[in-house]
Amino acid sequence: MPTVTIDDIQVEVEQGATILDAANKAGVWIPTLCHHPAVTPQATCRICMVELDRGEWKQLVTACNYPVRRDITVSVSGDNAVKARRGVMEFMLARAPDNEQLKAIAGRMGVDSTPWPTVTVAQRDCILCGLCTAVCDEVLGLAAIGFSGRGVDRAVAAPFRQAPDDCIACGACQAVCPVGTIQLRLHEDTDEIEISPFKARAKLRKCEQCGARVVSEPTAAEALKNVNVDWEKIRNLAKLCPKCRRIRAAESLAATASGTPTKEMTR
Ligand code: SF4
Repeated sequence: MPTVTIDDIQVEVEQGATILDAANKAGVWIPTLCHHPAVTPQATCRICMVELDRGEWKQLVTACNYPVRRDITVSVSGDNAVKARRGVMEFMLARAPDNEQLKAIAGRMGVDSTPWPTVTVAQRDCILCGLCTAVCDEVLGLAAIGFSGRGVDRAVAAPFRQAPDDCIACGACQAVCPVGTIQLRLHEDTDEIEISPFKARAKLRKCEQCGARVVSEPTAAEALKNVNVDWEKIRNLAKLCPKCRRIRAAESLAATASGTPTKEMTR
């Protein structure tokens, strides 16, 4: 197994593990934003830059996707690495100057302000890390959103910056957004969920028993499509929220034990 010397701490890692894996093992903190175990390392945000010692020369590399194939020496706390990461953070703060999650990471990195003019166009607060697009593409296979525009106008959006046709309003992009820019908005009047800022809206499925809003209709349809079970047998359970489903299943079990048919069994 190759050895990674990281800020003078030596750790052995599996062949092909990343510098970030090694840092985690060594207990050395490297900030990350676009990194998530559910998707392939993107190295889009560049906040995880470290300095790789190549002997005669040194090189800044992104820790999240740099594979360790042999013994290497890496500096996380050296001047060059720290300066590079701080520079990236200053650009991000220009896009999201008031974002509390980002400010917390910036504070830990020793960055408390940005010298750059702040972005004032639509999608302010998005740091363009691309984690949402990666999840939508790699995990869901939908690619409902992607990057659009250039420079300060660059944004994550659906084609033509319209509401995305392919979005099923699953909320996965919201769940992984590291700075909380993507929001789920409930429209009580229409029983719809909106994925903001993408303007995607979908009807919510309601529990047949208690009326609780469970999941968007297209997400439920997509989930049922991908699960290889006989839904005919349990179709009534699929119409319930998790809580009512547990109650119905318990009733069903009790009835089976006592020999009394339940609502579920008589349908
Ligand atoms: S809510 Fe829409 S855009 Fe976000 S991950 Fe799900 S399908 Fe993709």
